[in-house]
Amino acid sequence: MGYCLVEVWAQQVQCIVDKFPTTYLGLPLGFSRNSIELWNPVIEKFRKRLDGWKGKLLSFGGRITLLRSVFSNLPVYFMSLFQVPAGVAESLNKIMANFLWGPEAFGPIHWVKWENVCRAKVNGGLGWFEISTRNRSLLNNRVWRYGSEDGSLWRRVVDSKYDLDSMSLLPQPPEGRKTSWIWKNISKPLAGPSNNFVNAIRFKLGDGRRIIFWEDFLTEVPSLKLSFPRVFGLVLKKSGKVCEFGSKVEGKWIWSFKVRRALFSWEQAVWDEFIRIINKGAADSGTMDVLKWEHASNGVYSTKKLCELESALGSTEDKIWKLVWSGLAPPKVEGFLWKVILGRIPTLVELDKRGALHSSSTRCALCSRDEETVNHIFCLCEIGWKVWSKWVNEWRIRLVFPNSIKQLLQMWDSLPANRALKEFWRLSFFCILWTIWLCRNGVVFNNLVYNEQKIFEEMLLRLGFWCKGEWHTSTCSINEFVRNPVLIALEEFRCID
Ligand SMILES: [Zn+2]
Repeated sequence: MGYCLVEVWAQQVQCIVDKFPTTYLGLPLGFSRNSIELWNPVIEKFRKRLDGWKGKLLSFGGRITLLRSVFSNLPVYFMSLFQVPAGVAESLNKIMANFLWGPEAFGPIHWVKWENVCRAKVNGGLGWFEISTRNRSLLNNRVWRYGSEDGSLWRRVVDSKYDLDSMSLLPQPPEGRKTSWIWKNISKPLAGPSNNFVNAIRFKLGDGRRIIFWEDFLTEVPSLKLSFPRVFGLVLKKSGKVCEFGSKVEGKWIWSFKVRRALFSWEQAVWDEFIRIINKGAADSGTMDVLKWEHASNGVYSTKKLCELESALGSTEDKIWKLVWSGLAPPKVEGFLWKVILGRIPTLVELDKRGALHSSSTRCALCSRDEETVNHIFCLCEIGWKVWSKWVNEWRIRLVFPNSIKQLLQMWDSLPANRALKEFWRLSFFCILWTIWLCRNGVVFNNLVYNEQKIFEEMLLRLGFWCKGEWHTSTCSINEFVRNPVLIALEEFRCID
């Protein structure tokens, strides 16, 4: 048809003429494959939001906060329909990783591997996930919703296009070349190798009209057909839904099977086991057949839970991270403690390991006695240790010498017994750690001189300011606090409790 003619018609119905591929309601239309063009707007948006200059203005904590907001504002609808191509995911991850580590004074050293950053906080990550993991979790949600939104238009379109069973709770894995690339990518895990999403799907029996008796995962065994081949061979009916094999009478399922011959006595045990298993699967059946996802306590698939599971590989949950991300100290200090516990801060030894040392020595800037490792600065250093001890002595508490900062943090949390002071006490840990680091930086970069007394005084002043920020009810002045921190803290927090 001539283009001019189309234009004339369009004018008559007051429409504009456009060409495929295009976008409709913000979603791409008419792309014949998962092309880069489709994703360019998303990459551009990422680049714009995580522009280098913003990173330069923000502290490490600020960058974490901005990344978290970018992550929570991902184009969710877009990503729940289209699989992000590997190259695009790599670009997006790279933009995020460079933003996190980029503008430090020490050049773009990625102190923690991106895959370790992209984990739940309890697993030592920063609480967001790699793009492809998040994408898969959203695509799976569509498969999950297939079973719960059977009246919806999109499900009816999918069912009629691919000739699927409109009663089924899960779509059949796609076959053939006619399946669109979009649907193929969405339903891929159903046909693919074992995975955290599909492995945890169970069918919960209701009226038995939607669950395929021999094949669906109704019981504690994956498929009755594969688990009981002898019974399958004996029973005449080889296909059909659960309701075709029995019915519910007064809340209990009564089964009726026709077998092709009488059972041999030795087959009876297998048969009994088969009945026991299906009765167990049918116990406390509801009114409707539904899907259940075993990884969630409420049985409903959760994208967050899947991301946590997928990203946890190779890590273990550790309670220490709850103490790190307690929300008490400024975000940049929490982020700093996270790096300290992972042993990834730019001490002279760590810089030397990465070939980024600009000085001739790796000796500790504060005591100049030993190599400046992470553990040295915060635990083993004579000066650093005296600061911790001085604070603890003020409270008349004895502290056992720790092996690592992680151990010190654990010990710290078990002292003192006074519950009303718990948060204040935790905050003091962050404050000492941060002040030791800032003073150390003062020595390294500005040739300042620090002894334990000077570090201690700076720490008290900072702690006073932090407390003012954290607990606005405080009536005392910073000066009063610095002069007598223990007394003021006891007065302030006893009355709050
Ligand atoms: Zn030292």
